[in-house]
Amino acid sequence: MPPKQRKIAIMGYRSVGKSSLSIQFVEGQFVDSYDPTIENTFTKSTRVNSQDYEVKLVDTAGQDEYSIFPTQYSMDIHGYVLVYSITSAKSFEVVQVIYDKLLDITGKVHVPLVLVGNKTDLYVDRMITTEQGKRLADSWNAAFLETSAKQNESVADIFHTLLIEIEKADGNVQEK
Ligand code: GDP
Ligand code: MG
Repeated sequence: MPPKQRKIAIMGYRSVGKSSLSIQFVEGQFVDSYDPTIENTFTKSTRVNSQDYEVKLVDTAGQDEYSIFPTQYSMDIHGYVLVYSITSAKSFEVVQVIYDKLLDITGKVHVPLVLVGNKTDLYVDRMITTEQGKRLADSWNAAFLETSAKQNESVADIFHTLLIEIEKADGNVQEK
C-alpha cells in the first residue's frame, strides 16, 4: 500500500513545548532553545497498524486567548495536536480557547484531535493534574496523553494516536 499523506497542526500557548515535541518526533532529539517565533513544517514517515504514512507536521508559532484562529490552519489539516504544559494553568486555559475557535472556524462538531499535557519531567512544578487533563479531553471526545519532550516520554504516541483518530473520522476504523 502506498503511504497515506496526512497533515497535522500542533497548536497551543507559547513555550508549552510545541517545537520540542515536533523535533523530538521528527529528529529524535531535544533541542533546548529553539526560536519561538519560527513556524516550520516537518515531514516524517511513520507506520501505524501496518499502514505507512507521510506526515506533514505544521509547528505553529503559538497562540494566546486573543489570537484569531489562523485560517491557514483550518483547511487541509487532517488532525490537531493541542498542547499545554502541566506547569502552566494559563496554557491550560488557552488550549480551551483554541479548541472553541477551532470548532467555530471548521464548522465541525468533531475534529480528530489529541490533547497533550507536556513537561511531565517537571512534576515538582505541576499545576494541572492528570485528572483535569483527562476530564477536558473526555468532554471533547478527544484522546489525551501526558508527555515529556525532554525525556522523549510518549512523544511518538501523540502522532500515532492522532493518525488512528484520523482513520476513525474517515470511517476506516481499524481495531488492533
Ligand atoms: P513552543 O513555544 O511551544 O514551541 O515551546 P518550545 O518547544 O520552544 O519549548 C519552550 C521551552 O520549554 C524551551 O526552553 C524547552 O527547552 C522547554 N521544554 C519543552 N518541552 C519540555 C519538556 O518536556 N520538559 C522540560 N523540562 N522542558 C521542556
Ligand atoms: Mg515553537
